[in-house]
Amino acid sequence: MATIVQKFGGTSVGTPERIQRVAARAVRAHRAGNRVVVVVSAMSGETNRLLSLAGQISQAPHHREIDVLVSSGEQVSIGLVALACCELGVEARSFLGSQVRITTDDAHGMARIRDIDADSVVAALDRGEIVVVAGFQGVNEDGQITTLGRGGSDLSAVAMAAALKADVCEIYTDVDGIYTTDPRVVADARKIDRITFHEMLELASLGAKVLQTRSVEFAMKYEVPLHVRSSFDESEGSWVVPEEEGMEGAVVTGVAFDRNTAKLTVLGVPDVPGTVADLLFPLGEAGINVDVIIQNTAIDGRTDVTFTVSQTEMERAVALAQVVANRLGASGIVADAHVAKVSVVGAGMRSEAGVAVAMFRHLGQANVNIQLISTSEIKISCIIDEKFTELAVRVLHEAFRLHEAPAA
Ligand code: ASP
Ligand code: MG
Repeated sequence: MATIVQKFGGTSVGTPERIQRVAARAVRAHRAGNRVVVVVSAMSGETNRLLSLAGQISQAPHHREIDVLVSSGEQVSIGLVALACCELGVEARSFLGSQVRITTDDAHGMARIRDIDADSVVAALDRGEIVVVAGFQGVNEDGQITTLGRGGSDLSAVAMAAALKADVCEIYTDVDGIYTTDPRVVADARKIDRITFHEMLELASLGAKVLQTRSVEFAMKYEVPLHVRSSFDESEGSWVVPEEEGMEGAVVTGVAFDRNTAKLTVLGVPDVPGTVADLLFPLGEAGINVDVIIQNTAIDGRTDVTFTVSQTEMERAVALAQVVANRLGASGIVADAHVAKVSVVGAGMRSEAGVAVAMFRHLGQANVNIQLISTSEIKISCIIDEKFTELAVRVLHEAFRLHEAPAA
């Protein structure tokens, strides 16, 4: 008897008919002899609707109340899904995060899961029921409702799968798997059959939207196999799995891009120990993620420090950096919102030299200027002018022949 966690996103539970389809799928898996746990998001658009209601009432709402409010979207979904399963003749029981019980830290709006005590879920499964769990929410040590950050239902599903030692965590979505790049940009983007946790983690954090980054981290840590597949048909999707012997089919597995990138350059910073730390410290304190960082060679004891942040945080980052720049006697700050990050990812890169050079050459031939570069073991990212994003993605997809299935 296998234990299967099935996660359905907002689009998959967006209407009563779709909820009936979700229930039908859960019931099928249950009748096939599996122990089935369904994790659901709020109906599509609902979380945004609730947040905008709060925005009309309060400019600086208390985080605790926001969590009470937005977690209600998932409460609606679990009730409806459980009812739909019952209509199909299988007992089902819904669980809020607090009923499971999913314990988190106190960070309202971006809580981290500390512990899952799944005893009551296990008892329901033992009774032969389908269990329907609210995604995105937990409860802190003293019983306050918390939420896990936008897109957090993926994380709830993976965490439930880890706690139950499930055989698979199926992520049902409106696309039929993970693609070599966004098919809206490259028409012959190909569905990937198997991808490693590491590669998926890079792709997710570099801009691929199909899985929430933290959920991939969690799945990797607890080795929960993920199957990303379509909620609209039965087709096989993409598997995210631990790295296996002989899996290195492709040097490059995918191309990711992120237009939500902005570049800041602090000019004329004194070239003495501690200045970069001084510059970036207040950004870290303010929760702003700094990505690519470059410090140039000093001329006459002064240097330029360039770094990227997400475009949505640019204004805040400039304001914070300006204070330090003034104190250090730097000559100014230049900010550019019109940049994007384009990245190639592949586990096979570790053993294959020359991927970076090939990437730079192809971008050069397409007349795309590279402004900044950063690399890790299995990815290379370039910051470029935002208006060349699609061109760069197409050129790289073609250059690394990602439309072709890798040799087995
Ligand atoms: N409903 C939440 C959101 O919209 C969580 C999720 O959908 O995963 O972010
Ligand atoms: Mg941008």
